[in-house]
Amino acid sequence: MKTWAIILGEHGSDADIRKKNDKTEFVKHFIDIDNYDDFNNKHRIEEDFEMACLKYGKEKVKKEGTLPWATDSTYRTLVQDFKTSNWEKAVLTSADLGHYVGDGFMPLHIAANYDGQKSNQTGIHRRYEETMIDKHIGEVQFKTSTCRRIKGV
Ligand SMILES: [Zn+2]
Repeated sequence: MKTWAIILGEHGSDADIRKKNDKTEFVKHFIDIDNYDDFNNKHRIEEDFEMACLKYGKEKVKKEGTLPWATDSTYRTLVQDFKTSNWEKAVLTSADLGHYVGDGFMPLHIAANYDGQKSNQTGIHRRYEETMIDKHIGEVQFKTSTCRRIKGV
């Protein structure tokens, strides 16, 4: 039996792979958040997906990317997987959640200037995610840790 850590590693890129065949997947990997006046003026956008679609328009929400809401939706799916003890699904949902959270921490996945096209640096996305990583992957230190319960949550 494989441990979750191994399965998570094997399936961490499933969400990216799905983009090839699932046309709804692409927009889940980014948000050009600085294209929202609410973000620029109030540093917040609508947290509920349906409310966001009502407030900003569904076309704009999809055009700017749905990463925060995809992350939230995946989290909710994971909670259901746990509640129903569907462990085989839960580990794959966890891999997706880790992927979306990771995308959310990548600055070029959360800005309108996602490829340097607005600052005369076109192609920086690939140089950052592929060229630099490929060149320095051996230097990256991967640390693992165990989960621990947080009191009061
Ligand atoms: Zn992604």
